[in-house]
Amino acid sequence: MAKVVLNQVSKRFSGSVAAVSELNLEVADQEFLVLVGPSGCGKTTSLRMIAGLEDVSGGEITIGDRNVTHVSPKDRDIAMVFQNYALYPHMTVRRNMSFGLQLRYGGNFVSRLWRRLRDAQSAAEREKQYQQIPTKVDQVAATLGISKLLDRYPRELSGGERQRVALGRAIVRQPAAFLFDEPLSNLDAKLRVEMRRELKELHRRLGATMIYVTHDQVEAMTLGDRIAVMDQGVLQQVGSPSEVYHKPANRFVASFLGTPGMNLLEGELVEENGQFQFRAFGVRLEVVANQRPELKPSSSRKIVLGVRPEDILLTEESSADCPHAGRGQVELVESLGDTGYVHIRLSGEAPGSAELPRITAKANGAVLNSNLEAGPVPMGFRAQSLHW
Ligand code: ATP
Repeated sequence: MAKVVLNQVSKRFSGSVAAVSELNLEVADQEFLVLVGPSGCGKTTSLRMIAGLEDVSGGEITIGDRNVTHVSPKDRDIAMVFQNYALYPHMTVRRNMSFGLQLRYGGNFVSRLWRRLRDAQSAAEREKQYQQIPTKVDQVAATLGISKLLDRYPRELSGGERQRVALGRAIVRQPAAFLFDEPLSNLDAKLRVEMRRELKELHRRLGATMIYVTHDQVEAMTLGDRIAVMDQGVLQQVGSPSEVYHKPANRFVASFLGTPGMNLLEGELVEENGQFQFRAFGVRLEVVANQRPELKPSSSRKIVLGVRPEDILLTEESSADCPHAGRGQVELVESLGDTGYVHIRLSGEAPGSAELPRITAKANGAVLNSNLEAGPVPMGFRAQSLHW
């Protein structure tokens, strides 16, 4: 079992605010967990604390059933794959992949002799493991399609090949858990997609526990069994990709996930003759009872409505599923071919000299080609997908 548990783990660097605050996280055995969040939110620091490369300022870390909080990195039985691959430039691919195991099972003549004298049985087992290193390296190289590269040096490899070697080096060690720190960020867009698929496949085949750090939420959504979203050193939400996307715990998660993120519109919920209407900057949206947020009698009627770009339809038609919500002025259309994004400036009055808010709708090719910029565009909001 290689369950990884962080219990109230904190990190405070000298002279700075907390990089990680009381992080509680349980990564199940064989789970692929992605830690995601904006730059500086504490992802790498969290990963480095799991690896033992950074001391914790408070809390405990267990891997399997072992409390490893104060165990040195080499004795934690984990393998880490870095963004810059961290290959040894003066070693061939084969040596890069076997080096860790050679250190673990080998040693110089004196240390091997000393081991044999101390405990002949364990020494024999280690010797067996040592003899098997070349076979293991060959097997892993074949799995990753890098057998032909084994005698090359890192400088003779492309970025993608280096990344595979770094992965291979981690796999041959058969660690209890893999830690990845933005391993694909130095690759071009096409190769990233390919490697992402391979990583997912590899996870299935190895059945290993993997913790993966990225600031790229597409990577997070496609790779993770679960996603842990962090902001400013604090864990915001943990859940399946669908949960964090469709049921974000707070405004940060809502706007961080999605490209672009959820539109957040500050307005008021107004009641007239038992009917509720959301009003904000020219938006007037009838809200039926079962889609209304629960309002405490004492609470102010000011409220934030969240609606994802794909849940805004640019149409005159109004229905119960997608009631008309108002009109806005198109400012910019970004076409991606079959779909695209329409950035719309809302009308109405903004308080003081504040700018009127802009919201983004996702539209298909036919809508994009319909001369959108000519005039105010009608908007409908999908009733089932509103977030309050
Ligand atoms: P990125 O995506 O940019 O790599 P991150 O989410 O991985 O960011 P961390 O590298 O974990 O963020 O950093 C978290 C915070 O801790 C940041 O404010 C950073 O400046 C600070 N920090 C990280 N390492 C150190 C250090 N060695 N000394 C002081 N502060 C540090």
